[in-house]
Amino acid sequence: MSIIHDMIHTNTNQNVEVINITSNVNDIIRKYDITNGIVNISTKHTTSSIMINEDEEGLKKDYAKFLEKIVPNDNYLHDRIDNNATSHLKAMLTTPTQTLPIIDGKISLGTWQSIFFVELDGPRSNRTINIMIIGD
Ligand code: ZN
Repeated sequence: MSIIHDMIHTNTNQNVEVINITSNVNDIIRKYDITNGIVNISTKHTTSSIMINEDEEGLKKDYAKFLEKIVPNDNYLHDRIDNNATSHLKAMLTTPTQTLPIIDGKISLGTWQSIFFVELDGPRSNRTINIMIIGD
């Protein structure tokens, strides 16, 4: 059994951006020749999240619109420090981490499932995602 740590780094271009990282994670699983196990994917940032859903352009735009609607600006206290309270609050509604099974050398996902890094305070450079694998 192996315990492996690797990372994905990405730049983002929009304030809210949904980035498909499924192939990046599968590349790491292949790189270490893992056949079966589990993979944990976690963002290192408080204004981003890791999400599993469908990679469809309209839905990704709907998601940004939905977050805007449920977390409008409201003179939040954190804005006195770095003016990004709504980005943190959007991240708190989601999750910073996902754990998934690796079966036959790749992440076991449904046909319409993809893994996304979700930027909630972009654009940013060098966002870091931890990949932790336990398997063989
Ligand atoms: Zn902040």
